[in-house]
Amino acid sequence: MMASERFRRRARSWSLLGIACVTAALAFPASSRAADCPGNPNALGTSRTLVVDPREHPRIGTMQYAETLPLQDHEVVLTFDDGPLPRHSNAVLDILAKECVKATFFVVGRMARSFPEGVRRMRDAGHTIGTHSQNHPLSFNRMTVEQAKQEVDEGIDSVAAALGSRAAVAPFFRIPGLLRAEAVEGYLGSQGIQTWSADFPADDWRHISPAAVFGLAMSRLQAKGRGVLLLHDIQPRTVAALPQILHELKARGFRIVHVVPATPDRPKTPTEPAQWHLHPVTEQVAISHWPKVPSFSFASAEMLPGPSIADLSLDIGRVPEPFDGLHHLARGQVPLPKPAPWPRQQPAGTSANPIAFPVPAEAVFSIPEKTQPEIRAMIRVPVQRAARAIGTATTLAGELTPSIAAGAPVRQISGSVAIAPAGLQRGPIGVTARPRPLNH
Ligand SMILES: [Zn+2]
Repeated sequence: MMASERFRRRARSWSLLGIACVTAALAFPASSRAADCPGNPNALGTSRTLVVDPREHPRIGTMQYAETLPLQDHEVVLTFDDGPLPRHSNAVLDILAKECVKATFFVVGRMARSFPEGVRRMRDAGHTIGTHSQNHPLSFNRMTVEQAKQEVDEGIDSVAAALGSRAAVAPFFRIPGLLRAEAVEGYLGSQGIQTWSADFPADDWRHISPAAVFGLAMSRLQAKGRGVLLLHDIQPRTVAALPQILHELKARGFRIVHVVPATPDRPKTPTEPAQWHLHPVTEQVAISHWPKVPSFSFASAEMLPGPSIADLSLDIGRVPEPFDGLHHLARGQVPLPKPAPWPRQQPAGTSANPIAFPVPAEAVFSIPEKTQPEIRAMIRVPVQRAARAIGTATTLAGELTPSIAAGAPVRQISGSVAIAPAGLQRGPIGVTARPRPLNH
């Protein structure tokens, strides 16, 4: 009696386990492949291969374009630029191989000529090989189409020569420094080449620590929920940070997607147009930026949770992201500050955060009306500060700035970021104010 009861229970538990395994296998086909990684049963692995048609989606990466790769939540595409530089690129390849992770490399033509064996190692490991120009000039946004065409074509020729086949080179191109230009993208598109920006960098070309690279990679990925990560396989700090990044990706449930171009023998992965747009992460996560209160969770609450220590700890090495916008500032135009992101995305009102405060009264946010002299006094200082910040001739900025009418719609609030009120004139911007291109 007792024995048969035990047997029935055991049989039931085994069948439940079986159902759980089947469910898990259906939901996460990655897990089985990761388990297949030789010598590393806990490898991150590569969850799936995404086949894309560059002609249908010629520009991808939300850092600069409307579309990005059609990834699901928690899917990541790893990309590495500027190699091969054997010492570091081979270390990157070893780290990826240990985790059975497939990535996309944007190879520089000149590097491929110098280290063709390095490019062949990438190919032999099964990675996708795109190109990144012949000489990596940081001037694609100022070149003629002819110059750009030569850089693009030579780069592809060099990589094809290293691989012994043009077909081995993916029609994927990343513009050096992400210094995009319509004409360049137009040429690439006409050749059936997909222009790859990215969804987030980890600033690994800057003089920051590997820990900062790791912190930036994870915090930016977490913020978007999925996307294309931009890294550099020629940077020692990237080599140092990569094992921890891969380990953390696995720990947080992210999955690696390998991207390859469609060919006559390899049809594209079926997708819907909407999948090529990065939608906001689910509303279950508080993503609202200050000073907006995430109304979905606090709409009817009379008490708000107090900030926890985790809310206040800024990301290591967090720096502004002065990408595309800065390069297109017109002469005399002041760069607007980026909206300040909430330091950490915390589920609102967790039980781990017992402190709560009353919802502030509406009167707290009201701005008392000021008289005209007071408004003038408040505006003058921020205008001078803004002028100094962009390296303009500052001494005359205050004098050159005409007063603003008391009825003007913009009112400077004490303590807010200095932005020039609309319609104000300012002196000419010096050559030094021109933003330097980013080296990646
Ligand atoms: Zn680069």
